Amino acid sequence: MLIGVPKEVKNHEYRVGLIPSSVRELIHHGHKVVVETAAGSGVGFSDDDYRNAGASIAGTAQEIFDSVEMVVKVKEPQPGEYAQLREGQLLFTYLHLAPDEAQTRGLMDSGCVAVAYETVTSARGGLPLLTPMSEVAGRMSVQVGAHCLEKEQGGSGMLLGGVPGVAASKVVIIGGGVSGTNAARMAMGMEAAVTVIDRSLQRLNELDMQFGPTLNTIYSTVDAIESHVAGADLVIGAVLVPGAAAPKLVTRDMLKNMRPGSVVVDIAIDQGGCFETSRGTTHDNPTYVEEDVVHYCVTNMPGAVARTSTFALNNATLPFTLALADKGYKRALAEDPHLMEGLNVAMGKVTYKAVADAHGMTY
Ligand code: NAD
Repeated sequence: MLIGVPKEVKNHEYRVGLIPSSVRELIHHGHKVVVETAAGSGVGFSDDDYRNAGASIAGTAQEIFDSVEMVVKVKEPQPGEYAQLREGQLLFTYLHLAPDEAQTRGLMDSGCVAVAYETVTSARGGLPLLTPMSEVAGRMSVQVGAHCLEKEQGGSGMLLGGVPGVAASKVVIIGGGVSGTNAARMAMGMEAAVTVIDRSLQRLNELDMQFGPTLNTIYSTVDAIESHVAGADLVIGAVLVPGAAAPKLVTRDMLKNMRPGSVVVDIAIDQGGCFETSRGTTHDNPTYVEEDVVHYCVTNMPGAVARTSTFALNNATLPFTLALADKGYKRALAEDPHLMEGLNVAMGKVTYKAVADAHGMTY
């Protein structure tokens, strides 16, 4: 199969759909890969790196869209891109179609077959192509939270791990799933005093078995959140209720009880956020202050560490990319119900119920 990788065009998007080692893997499987010039430059891959892996280099995205059978990307296609997709062409990327009717109609009009990373499932009930980004955001949340605690950033001037003779900062993580667990791991590594609050007892059990007595686990109630937030230096919001907006678990009144200069990092901001006072921010201007508490609410945290994120994403997508290329999409989807869950649009029709429902379309 001929596979193409255009350079991402979304503002501040540096990730790339295939890294050179993924290209080499596809070529090893007998496929051909064409990569747009400078597609990997934002994450340190030159055209020569791709050539050495066996790819050919195209001067424009148009050459790729005109010729390839499968397009592999990172972000949802932008208007200029979905206008270039062709009937029957396979698109494998993040789509997030439910809130985006224009893109949904653009993909339908193109006649392409669009498989979305974010709705591919796993046998364990997870979303394996979203997991790496939650891992990145969770680990990053502690790094940015520690930075925000510094005086120059408006913080209270606390060092996360303290020093001998001075108490460590208190870190409270609400939601102990993929991102919360990764946040806990980083915060414990920096020797903060860490508490995870979750409404799933099973999850708290697993965390307790995994980390032992160095991690404090608390069952999620309004009381528990109120008292732990009041005493925290850094609160990380990492909840997810699948298919729903994030619940507003931390109210403005709860923030008023925090020490001035304390910090909240709302990872769940891409689902609306779990702090009443959260509003989405960007990497250009990541923080603001409400109730004397520094808020970090960047909606695409993994973008800041685009190189790590690109590797992590490729590790997760490559088996599916190979299956689609080796078998062709019809057989690959028919043989793998989890990959089939990724199919969002095919030949002019929406094929994913939540997307059809969101736009009042027939499914
Ligand atoms: P996950 O499903 O692995 O974990 C969510 C956890 O929240 C679960 O353990 C669940 O039991 C818990 N939870 C739900 N309701 C709760 C409540 N009322 N009280 C306490 N805990 C509760 O989800 P995840 O992969 O860790 O993702 C978390 C959030 O991070 C999602 O909104 C996701 O979209 C977001 N995310 C954001 C970015 C970003 O750049 N901002 C990047 C990746 C992921």
